[in-house]
Amino acid sequence: LMQLFRPLDLLGFVYRTIRQGMVDMAQMFTLMDTEVEVADRPGAPALIVRRPTLAFENVRFGYEAERTILHDLSFEVPAGSHTAIVGPSGAGKSTIARLLFRFYDPWSGRILIDGQDISQVEQKSLRAAIGIVPQDSVLFNDTIGYNIAYGREGAGEEEIVRAARDAAILPFIEALPDGFETEVGERGLKLSGGEKQRVAIARALLKDPPILLLDEATSALDSRTEQGILATLDRVSEHRTTLAIAHRLSTIADADAILVLEHGRLAERGTHAELLCADGLYAEMWARQAVEREEA
Ligand code: ADP
Ligand code: MG
Repeated sequence: LMQLFRPLDLLGFVYRTIRQGMVDMAQMFTLMDTEVEVADRPGAPALIVRRPTLAFENVRFGYEAERTILHDLSFEVPAGSHTAIVGPSGAGKSTIARLLFRFYDPWSGRILIDGQDISQVEQKSLRAAIGIVPQDSVLFNDTIGYNIAYGREGAGEEEIVRAARDAAILPFIEALPDGFETEVGERGLKLSGGEKQRVAIARALLKDPPILLLDEATSALDSRTEQGILATLDRVSEHRTTLAIAHRLSTIADADAILVLEHGRLAERGTHAELLCADGLYAEMWARQAVEREEA
């Protein structure tokens, strides 16, 4: 593989090498404990996102041949809307996020972004269009600055600082002896789950993509920090399509649409008010969490 070296201009860092493209992607797959399973079809065109709509059309998928995780799943997310996916643990919510980012291809059915089948477009262009904050964020063994800057090549210092501030991680970074140059990960400073999540959020904010995919992106944060970040995410996601997977229902009650997933099938869909009226799984989950909220 050819390696491209390019200086990254941030915060006076000395020339740092970024190994681009496949090398980084391979590293990311290793970090995410995912095999590189999908490849570009020869001559695959780039994804062109004019209106960032998302659609699942009869998607069937499982990790193992004998175990179907998503059964014939269909839903649409209009451009610019905020859609939430909720449901019991193991329902297949994170699997939806992984398929959208094309870590895997469906067994059958199609996933479309702005009308284009994502299995038919260049992966690089697909991943450039999506900012993902995964459930378990992984960091590169590099500086905390690199880990944020990775969101977008060529980002300037000011933008990186702003992303860190918006993700409520700036005071933490500034308090470190080496600031943005502090080494993190296995070989450096170990970050808590909440700190890692905020680095991942900063990375996604810096990327500034048309589609934002949040997989329990604030689950490891205390509720005050969570409120602050949710307000920021609300603000920055105003003009983009956001798909937010949530455990705490209170964080997505104002979504334009809520999809309730159960055993890899869409059990219900509607707004918060509609789902409460429907008095089904969502209403039951809401009531249970209300009790937990009161106890807390
Ligand atoms: P959720 O995010 O709703 O909690 P997931 O999408 O992570 O659920 O997982 C759905 C199902 O798929 C679970 O039963 C889980 O054990 C299984 N699963 C997830 N990842 C893998 C994998 N890499 N290999 C095999 N099974 C998996
Ligand atoms: Mg999950």
